[in-house]
Amino acid sequence: MVPQQTAAERLQACGNCGALNEENHSLCGPCGSPLKITCPKCKTINASKRRACSNGKCGFTIGDYFLVLRWLRDAKLALARDEFTVAIPLLRQADALWPGENRVAELLAKVGQRQEQIDRCHKELLKLTRDRRYEEAERQLDSLRPDRIGSSRSCEIGHGN
Ligand SMILES: [Zn+2]
Ligand SMILES: [Zn+2]
Repeated sequence: MVPQQTAAERLQACGNCGALNEENHSLCGPCGSPLKITCPKCKTINASKRRACSNGKCGFTIGDYFLVLRWLRDAKLALARDEFTVAIPLLRQADALWPGENRVAELLAKVGQRQEQIDRCHKELLKLTRDRRYEEAERQLDSLRPDRIGSSRSCEIGHGN
């Protein structure tokens, strides 16, 4: 006779917050984290509470997943404030620990775009102040504020003039 699993044994512990979830759930109820994590090295699907990949030949540190997520979140916040010296090392760390994570590559691309934009604005500002077009320079500077990203296109004023 196959021993019956008790209800508690069938529950899945969340690797992030430790909460117990029903066996058929894919996301943790309290914190929304995935309860299954695909190993980036061998693609084995693991329970998120595991420290090492369940594939004995692999042994990848699956438990780092939530650390990588935290770094991604912190990098996003830093990027929103144009704190590149904070965001870039976090993203590089995440990339080293969890290779092939698309969100890391996406954020690194965003960092590059934003840096280019700031660089372009800087040049434009120099030009405007040299020409004593201070009001335009002021508008330009305002459009560069991190909280204006997306709501206005920085440094496009003056282009084509
Ligand atoms: Zn959780
Ligand atoms: Zn693995």
